[in-house]
Amino acid sequence: MTELNKLTLSDARDALRKGETTSVELTEACLKAIDAADALNAFVHKTPEIALERAKAADARIKAGDAPAMCGLPIGIKDLFCTKGVDSQAASGILEGFKPEYESTVSQQLQDSGAVMLGKLNMDEFAMGSSNETSVYGNAVSPWRREGDEAPLTPGGSSGGSASAVAADLCLAATGTDTGGSIRQPAAFTGITGIKPTYGRCSRWGVVAFASSLDQAGPMTKSVRDAAMMLEAMCGHDPKDSTSADLAVPNFEAMLTGDIKGKKIGIPREYRMDGMPAEIEKLWSEGAEMLRAAGAEIVDISLPHTKYALPAYYVIAPAEASSNLARYDGVRYGQRATLEGGDGITEMYEKTRAAGFGHEVQRRVMVGTYVLSAGFYDAYYNRARKVRTLIKRDFEDVFAQGIDAILTPATPSAAFGLGEMIDADPVQMYLNDVFTVTVNLAGLPGISVPAGVDAKGLPLGLQLIGRPWEEGDLLNTAYALEEAAGFVAKPGHWW
Ligand code: GLN
Repeated sequence: MTELNKLTLSDARDALRKGETTSVELTEACLKAIDAADALNAFVHKTPEIALERAKAADARIKAGDAPAMCGLPIGIKDLFCTKGVDSQAASGILEGFKPEYESTVSQQLQDSGAVMLGKLNMDEFAMGSSNETSVYGNAVSPWRREGDEAPLTPGGSSGGSASAVAADLCLAATGTDTGGSIRQPAAFTGITGIKPTYGRCSRWGVVAFASSLDQAGPMTKSVRDAAMMLEAMCGHDPKDSTSADLAVPNFEAMLTGDIKGKKIGIPREYRMDGMPAEIEKLWSEGAEMLRAAGAEIVDISLPHTKYALPAYYVIAPAEASSNLARYDGVRYGQRATLEGGDGITEMYEKTRAAGFGHEVQRRVMVGTYVLSAGFYDAYYNRARKVRTLIKRDFEDVFAQGIDAILTPATPSAAFGLGEMIDADPVQMYLNDVFTVTVNLAGLPGISVPAGVDAKGLPLGLQLIGRPWEEGDLLNTAYALEEAAGFVAKPGHWW
């Protein structure tokens, strides 16, 4: 058998059921890989004792014939998920030392399904960023490098640690969260699969809030089959989250037939951006050809309000963030700044928030507070909400015309170098999300599938956007694309 940490979730599951390996062996292989990969800075809190304890329990369950889908499979958890008794600080200084008394619903469900937590994964602070460079732990590093070049690259963000860890085979899969693209963009940058389900599919309870009307959890995996398997374990109704949908969860994996004959795939003309690299353009048309060859009908469509998505997102997301982050006041959670004699409660808030939040988070809080302020509420926040409705309607219109899924590039470029963008105008960084934010604004499911490499050998991803609640159908189209693209590249092992 290949090295155990290199297995996909589904291969490992099958091997466990056949008794060819044990969860303890799988877990030990991952723990060893993690310890040898500090250069990637992907795992920021390692939990080997918890992992081995859960692995032993999983082996006992498998022996007893009680093996749910994720039983015995070692995974990483993004630091945004609250994990009981284990550091959960959303990569922020303000939550240093925070060990929640509770477990997020998603990580609890994974645990109930037998998954083994290896530790917590690096990310951008409060999930704000596209390169993992806003993290208090320092940036995560991609296992990928450009051919003939040792410059360190970003694994993308905000779920950069998750992407790096899965791509480098430190774990079999990982959880991510996606508010504007944070599962799909890092997945595309590192040659793995990532799905953001329909808003309301996964409970947000116990996931540190960024922008509550946009945030969704999802799996980051080595294959579409793995994404189907893990998503099923993560989602479902949760009375503790009022926006969680009370809908049955289908067996997503059973829907992977690869048959997409007669499906209508839309190609939105507004996603053909000026200055888009030729490689991205080429990959996109090749992807459409692959789906056509598999029997789908390719249809040109229009999503006319696309160009307003990024500005609307960068009003709504900071507005919600500024409100959500008001709770970090030095009283209830994490850190409080050292105070001087004469300091009152106002100074405590100010000093704590100035010391505890990084620059990007402070920028978002300021933008959010501004767009929500009495004088500007209508001009910015309310207008952005109206634009959001128009964007959602664009999608509803094309789905009403019979479109089953929409194919777009996942990102406007391959991974960039660490440090290359951080001093640029922040808007340059925000442009990374141009193809992904529309999906969050409309609450739709979106998946990124690795589909090719650029001239320097770096992975490129394609995004498929599905109808609400039809993740099964979307995963099946992604499966057909995955089969046709046959992406097998792996990063060389340098770390
Ligand atoms: N890059 C986007 C942002 O910084 C999206 C982040 C995310 O999806 N969490 O807001």
